[in-house]
Amino acid sequence: MVMVGLLKQAEDTHGFHRSSSNPDSGENAVLTVIHELQSKLGTRVVTNLAVREQHGNTVTWVKAEPPDAVAFPDSTQEVSDIVKLCAARRVPVIAFGTGTSLEGHVNAPLGGICLDLSQMKRVIAVHAEDLDCVIEPGNTRKELNEHLRDQGLFFPIDPGADASIGGMVATRASGTNAVRYGTMKDCVLALTVVLPNGDIVKTAQRAKKSSAGYDLTHLFIGAEGTLGIITEITLRLHGIPEAISAGVCQFPSVKAACDAVIATIQTGIPVARIELLDQMQVRALNLFSKLDLPESPMLLLEFHGSDASVQEQADRFGEIAADHGCGKFEWATKPEDRTRLWQARHDAHWSVRALRPGANSISTDVCVPISRLAECVEETQRDIMEMGLLAPIVGHVGDGNFHCLPLVDTNNADEVAKVQEFIDRLVARAIAMNGTCTGEHGVGQKKMKYLETEHGAPALELMRTLKRAIDPLNIMNPGKVVAV
Ligand SMILES: Cc1cc2nc3c(=O)[nH]c(=O)nc-3n(C[C@H](O)[C@H](O)[C@H](O)COP(=O)(O)OP(=O)(O)OC[C@H]3O[C@@H](n4cnc5c(N)ncnc54)[C@H](O)[C@@H]3O)c2cc1C
Repeated sequence: MVMVGLLKQAEDTHGFHRSSSNPDSGENAVLTVIHELQSKLGTRVVTNLAVREQHGNTVTWVKAEPPDAVAFPDSTQEVSDIVKLCAARRVPVIAFGTGTSLEGHVNAPLGGICLDLSQMKRVIAVHAEDLDCVIEPGNTRKELNEHLRDQGLFFPIDPGADASIGGMVATRASGTNAVRYGTMKDCVLALTVVLPNGDIVKTAQRAKKSSAGYDLTHLFIGAEGTLGIITEITLRLHGIPEAISAGVCQFPSVKAACDAVIATIQTGIPVARIELLDQMQVRALNLFSKLDLPESPMLLLEFHGSDASVQEQADRFGEIAADHGCGKFEWATKPEDRTRLWQARHDAHWSVRALRPGANSISTDVCVPISRLAECVEETQRDIMEMGLLAPIVGHVGDGNFHCLPLVDTNNADEVAKVQEFIDRLVARAIAMNGTCTGEHGVGQKKMKYLETEHGAPALELMRTLKRAIDPLNIMNPGKVVAV
């Protein structure tokens, strides 16, 4: 049976209003669209509860809000046709990659149709000579790298999860490599997007740079599916480095580790990865990934380049680390040791649950200018202690970006309130330091409330103006990023 979300909420807190004079609104509208989609896509439209639940939020404490149906389109034209059907009846459309976003991004608070893009996995072209490729959004980052490896190329952005490239564009994701290779905003050359009225636009050509008009590409990067559905992506690629070396080093305190990071970045060492793990996070990794790392604050590093340049970078970093009280700098020279170490780092989100079995882990991220990093992390650690929380810290600190992973019993209202207060304070601290409420995870539902403090009312109003202009019916992922 179809559970219809639209009817439940004729006018709701997310600012979505439907005309009561429209006889085809609400439940009728959704049912009509589902029938139309079924006759068009057949079994590629699914309404069973288990599948719908998999397409609401599943990874964090944000309450799941499943869509009314899930459609699996196969091409840009099909996406356009589906969006036109939804627009005709003002039915919400929520894009879905792999569902690993952390702030309730894929929830359907007003019901509607989830567009699962996982079947759009074509690699349309790889232009090795231009270092770019054109792909469909359902490719995951690991699938893409598998495809590219034989040509000596790789795509560097690596969020902990094996996310879809479409989802990564839509959340402006990054990961451990961003300090060297940038974030999704630096790696996308052009997009094909289906607009809320079904029109198909191409935002740019493949040229590495362009001054031709408004930068439409970057309008859609980080828009979280609120302005359109991305159906084709032109990505910038990199050559696989000739030499890679990775290592770990322990520090007497988180402040000493952060100060070493700040000095490394300020000195201009082109480090490829520089990740902070506090003592609690190291303990979690030891438990979860069966490692035996010394349990003290730690930096995990990687250098890319020629043999000589990697050696030089490592030597220069070694001197800085020693100046900040680093113990032994241990190298992971074998590729399998490196993979094990970085996989453990990528599993940080799940590993913290080993510290408190049965608890839910929340992953929240902020980012500050690098010069404020040590201060922000130290103050946050003090807050964690004073509030009596268990909240490991881990982060892409080369960018000033770190994550806190508070553990919470979601059945305990007092604990939930305390963790929410902690996150509010963390965000306020980062914004007060000229930072941001999220460096990479995005806004979704849970971080909407911080945007006005961060950007100011006029900038937020400009975002609303853009949303209203592009999506006047508010059908694209309503209730996310900005309320209109
Ligand atoms: C263990 C773990 C570790 C993580 N580590 C990181 C990290 O290091 N860095 C980081 O940045 N993030 C991280 N994340 C968060 C998450 O992986 C990223 O936000 C990722 O980019 C989401 O991709 P997805 O395919 O899962 O997107 P989804 O969750 O499916 O969707 C995310 C948003 O994008 C929209 N969307 C999806 N596809 C499209 C499309 N084709 N067109 C338009 N809109 C679309 C959706 O509507 C939604 O609003 C982590 C998550 C987990 C669970």
